[in-house]
Amino acid sequence: MKVLVLNCGSSSLKYQLIDMSNESVLCKGLVERIGIDGSVLKHEKDGLDGKHVVEVEMKDHKDAIKHVLEAVAHPEVGAVKEMSEIEAVGHRIVHGGEKFASSALLTDEVIEAINECVELAPLHNPANLMGVEACKAILPDVPQVGVFDTAFHQSMPKKAFIYGLPHELYTKYGVRRYGFHGTSHLYVSQKAAEMLGKPVEELKIVTCHLGNGASLTAVDGGKSVDTSMGLTPLEGLIMGTRCGDIDPAIVPFVMKKEGLDADGIDKLMNKQSGVYGMTGISSDFRDIEDAANNGDEKAQVALDAYCHKVKKYIGSYVAAMNGVDAIVFTAGLGENGISMREMICKDMDFFGIKLDAEKNNVRGKERVISTDDSKVKVLLIPTNEELMIARDTVRLSK
Ligand code: AMP
Repeated sequence: MKVLVLNCGSSSLKYQLIDMSNESVLCKGLVERIGIDGSVLKHEKDGLDGKHVVEVEMKDHKDAIKHVLEAVAHPEVGAVKEMSEIEAVGHRIVHGGEKFASSALLTDEVIEAINECVELAPLHNPANLMGVEACKAILPDVPQVGVFDTAFHQSMPKKAFIYGLPHELYTKYGVRRYGFHGTSHLYVSQKAAEMLGKPVEELKIVTCHLGNGASLTAVDGGKSVDTSMGLTPLEGLIMGTRCGDIDPAIVPFVMKKEGLDADGIDKLMNKQSGVYGMTGISSDFRDIEDAANNGDEKAQVALDAYCHKVKKYIGSYVAAMNGVDAIVFTAGLGENGISMREMICKDMDFFGIKLDAEKNNVRGKERVISTDDSKVKVLLIPTNEELMIARDTVRLSK
């Protein structure tokens, strides 16, 4: 079965065509600037000399998906002969609220329920739904499945997801912690169990998804029991441009001092903070590391603060689970940041965590990076959200 996996943003779209008979990626690509001047599609396939680039106006997601399907079924650069070889489409949907604890076939009722979650993810869910509507129009007979970033975390107990706020904010508006990156946390926790040769039900794992957006999850017996992101993906760790946990009293304080309205403070915390705001240099950790190596003090402080926060979250999750068998690093920084992994795992022998400097000297490869005598195993596992989406799509569209 060949499955098209789509991840639609407001002006961009990522896709992969996966052959589920052997879980191989047949082709993949990215469309940028949808609905903006300069729309471009960049298509990749193994064996292709460079990328196939299509520069043509794409006024909406329907236009973009038509061009994606043309590239996928292109006689020279495509991976299938006919579009009809695509038997199902899997969509990444950011917010499923409390309605979705697992993936779902995208029937009219399910789409309506996703629409009801738009308020919780106003930037993401409408874009995800544009992709769904466009596919329904172009491929009306092909089953479509939605895979939610929040679904894996629906197993969190109430004590972990409730805020110390008036209870009616939860009952009236759904103000609670939801968590994100669930597909990634689920994938790497299952992979970790496979690598350790134990059933996931018998393991306590802390999964660290450290990318531009970053979150940690406590996975006990294969279930998410706590995670660092909250109502929105702003809570938790310091990120590329997001501030993560702060004293909430800072919000009205800075609003008054700087004369900001709600949108202004929201922008400041989401787009102008994190390591970017702390250093004024960049949101990319490679640039921050370079600056720190060249003696930039703010860059060094940002790295130290980042690692300190990750360490504190690991510690709190070990306490919440009463133990830990494995720590997993994944996503851009988790997979590639050799010195960040080293800084995070430093001085954690109290917990039985011992990183092996030589084994850790690797980027983007699945491997155990702790010493043989480390009580807690440390694993590097490249995430694969697309494969998880494709697997659920196969399961639900049969
Ligand atoms: P993601 O959101 O998972 O694509 O992660 C992107 C982030 O990973 C970038 O913004 C970088 O900060 C980080 N990253 C990628 N490669 C490296 C690297 N070689 N060293 C340090 N950080 C990296």
